[in-house]
Amino acid sequence: MTITTAPTSSSTDTARAVLDAAFPGGIGAFIDGKVVPGNGETVTLTAAATGAPFATYSDPGAEGAGVILESSVRGAAAWGELNGFERAAILRNVSRTLEAHTEELAILESATTGKPIRDARVEAAKVAEMFGYYAGWADKLTGQTIPVPGSWHTYTERVPWGVIVAITPWNAPMFTAGWNSAAPLAAGNSVIIKPSEFTPASTIRVAQLAHEAGLPDGVFNVAPGLGQTVGAALTSDRRVGKVSFIGSVPTGRRVAVAAAQAGIPALLELGGKSANIVFADADLERAADGAISAIFSGAGQSCVAGSRLLVERSVHAQFVELVADRAGRLRVGDPLSADTEVGPIITAQQFATVNSLIDAGVQDGGRRITGSALPPHLTGSALAGGHWVMPTLLDGVTPQNRLETTEVFGPVVGADAFDTEAEAIARANSTSFGLAGAVWTSDVSRAHHVARSVNAGTFWINSYKTIHVAVPFGGFGDSGHGRSSGPGVLDEYTQTKAIWVPTRAAGSPFPSLSY
Ligand code: NAD
Repeated sequence: MTITTAPTSSSTDTARAVLDAAFPGGIGAFIDGKVVPGNGETVTLTAAATGAPFATYSDPGAEGAGVILESSVRGAAAWGELNGFERAAILRNVSRTLEAHTEELAILESATTGKPIRDARVEAAKVAEMFGYYAGWADKLTGQTIPVPGSWHTYTERVPWGVIVAITPWNAPMFTAGWNSAAPLAAGNSVIIKPSEFTPASTIRVAQLAHEAGLPDGVFNVAPGLGQTVGAALTSDRRVGKVSFIGSVPTGRRVAVAAAQAGIPALLELGGKSANIVFADADLERAADGAISAIFSGAGQSCVAGSRLLVERSVHAQFVELVADRAGRLRVGDPLSADTEVGPIITAQQFATVNSLIDAGVQDGGRRITGSALPPHLTGSALAGGHWVMPTLLDGVTPQNRLETTEVFGPVVGADAFDTEAEAIARANSTSFGLAGAVWTSDVSRAHHVARSVNAGTFWINSYKTIHVAVPFGGFGDSGHGRSSGPGVLDEYTQTKAIWVPTRAAGSPFPSLSY
């Protein structure tokens, strides 16, 4: 790929040029180290910043999914024959290769998804880091020696599942491509990623670079295409060892049921409706900065978005003003401009959903404080047809408001006042989700008490949104189950085998206990 500078006069042209440079033959499945055009459903890719189409591709269909799976079964066998030290060396090289291509990957991601380039750069670097981190684990996967009664040497081994199918969403395609491949590969599995049909490019390029860095054929394949064709075929085929799914609650449940019917376990990373709780004794300026980043980075298209802002009543009006002032100053615009902080909504469908949920929030009594008219640099330019939603703050979003419990997945935060700590905790826990949350306070005991009391897989004290591959991440309740990072995820991607050896000839090799 040769394009290293951003952008041309039109985001649509840039997206087309960047994609052509990356994949001269167009988008296709990545199988055995090659990009192979599909012959299934046709998918049109749209530039989020202009609303105009820039490419089409055909997905591999259910039949093509079968071909990919055959390759991945072979890949799992070949990868499994290497020892952990050999796998670690290759994964370290994958990390170095991705690091060397950070800028290229960031431009590809930004141009084809509408994600601000500064965010894409951070995410590209994180993907390289993920491979570096799990390369470090590949040669350290040990079992246990377990003392048992009688004369036995009993030990365990960690066995890869074989083929892992990862289904990923459109909001962070490159990040989730790394998140859902580095760990299973380190554990000795092959991986197929089925990226969102809307944002396949960066995932294919990551797999291509990983192959160039030494991953054998079939170890990291990509199946771009529709959920109901390619996704459904891959998540219900008994040759798959495990499914890891990142996406919405309804789709996650559908996928888990289909997988279960084929006897395949599924790890689910789903949506959220996280509470950001601000007490009067907090550093309000810092908390306002945190509240902005919690909801408006990624234009709110983030599973951990702090979409409910709960503020102690005595500072509520002041704090809403601080947040509104900052929201009004955020730079919304061309994703490929280095100073853009908030980009467009990535898909047209989601753009419509976000707008209708803002209307619902107002109908249910929310007062719009920010986020109405689009500025002239958006309406009066080539960006006029883009999926723009200005950072939106609604105040007075009470428990009866639909925004209280519905994930918007856009730059929309609902604020409300609370009187007591117990009320804030109850309110934070009043949805079926349990992904993330935060508290802002200078009272250490209160901070820890709130952190312990809120149902969430990740919780920040006087901060928001930091996650790292070394730290477990995942949801409670409707936000899913299983953890997708940290050392523990290696347990998700291996099965434990127990091995018994009698150590004394006199010991009975046939104990009477049956199970
Ligand atoms: P989605 O559920 O619509 O789609 C997710 C993926 O599932 C896509 O790749 C889609 O093609 C695929 N899919 C759809 N139907 C399928 C089927 N029948 N079989 C197999 N695959 C199928 O989600 P989305 O709109 O792409 O992403 C937004 C959602 O993702 C939000 O709810 C967000 O909170 C969630 N998300 C969660 C996390 C997390 O780590 N918890 C991270 C990012 C996004």
